[in-house]
Amino acid sequence: MIRVEQIDKFYGDTKVFDNFSCTITFGEHDMVAIMGPSGSGKTTLLRMIAGLEKPDRGQITGVPDKVGMVFQEPRLFLHMSALENVSCVSNEKIAEQILIDLQLGDALDKKADVLSGGMQQRVAIARALACKRELILFDEPFKGLNEELKYDTIQCVKKYMKTGIIITHDADEAAAFSAPVILIGDS
Ligand code: ADP
Ligand code: MG
Repeated sequence: MIRVEQIDKFYGDTKVFDNFSCTITFGEHDMVAIMGPSGSGKTTLLRMIAGLEKPDRGQITGVPDKVGMVFQEPRLFLHMSALENVSCVSNEKIAEQILIDLQLGDALDKKADVLSGGMQQRVAIARALACKRELILFDEPFKGLNEELKYDTIQCVKKYMKTGIIITHDADEAAAFSAPVILIGDS
């Protein structure tokens, strides 16, 4: 269980969180969803859970030592192939299998910079899955994927992920994971 307790977070004069608390419980659900309006602090919360940002007050406990992360943008090594981008965090067989499951079998040896945005995003998802972390944090990972690809990608995430937290604007995505939803912001 991850406990977010009485968090304050400022950027300059902007107060993003004011005494915010929530509990994220895994168990019968592998995925928990965070939803809220644009600018409400979803990415900031995920970054604080990952330890990439510190709250100004309060604490976050129960996060595994090492977590995986899928950022809003792919953040690949553009001069390396899709397979190299994933196999640099796992063995090549697993990397290849996950990429094939994500319908990137034809793109294994293509350099990341020639792949479409949606393909790059799926390579980033493959990299997080191949790393086999206890917990993976997903920041709007399916943005830009069409419905069919999104469905197949969700099936693949379910197959390889242990537990995860996903930020999404799409209630159907949360439902596809049977994920309980934590609402932040004024929604
Ligand atoms: P969301 O992901 O819900 O759209 P963010 O967590 O990205 O929201 O941002 C929440 C608020 O914090 C916004 O007002 C945003 O402009 C501000 N913010 C986020 N990161 C920074 C930063 N590094 N420096 C200054 N302001 C930031
Ligand atoms: Mg965001």
